[in-house]
Amino acid sequence: MTDPALVICQQCSGANRVPVARLGEQPVCGRCKARLFTGKPQDVNLATFDRHIQKGTIPVLVDFWASWCGPCKMMAPAFAAAASALEPEVRLLKVDTEAQKALSARYQIRSIPSLILFAGAQEKARTAGVMTQQGIIDWARANVN
Ligand code: ZN
Repeated sequence: MTDPALVICQQCSGANRVPVARLGEQPVCGRCKARLFTGKPQDVNLATFDRHIQKGTIPVLVDFWASWCGPCKMMAPAFAAAASALEPEVRLLKVDTEAQKALSARYQIRSIPSLILFAGAQEKARTAGVMTQQGIIDWARANVN
């Protein structure tokens, strides 16, 4: 990760420079004053997704899901809980594959739930199928470096 990190605000999409050593000190957005890390995944569209992946420097874990998908709903609480454990080392995003067809096409999502881990704007790893909270955390940490 570059230092200082560029952290994208979940509220206003502003880019904030934060020294890596201070990421855990509950930094706030310089523009809108929202907390940069909320312990919750962010629902993203094409624009906010690209902002986090391409502009931000925090590794990003994305859950590709759909409302009709039972296993996705089953995994949602585990993914949400993993956010508070993985931040600020990893940013967690959710992509509704029905609403964001351009993103599911770009990444050729064929089965859901699918998780993709991005670092340095590149896809580092992906996996499909329901995972537990600890499984998500372990998988992300194993692949982030
Ligand atoms: Zn903001």
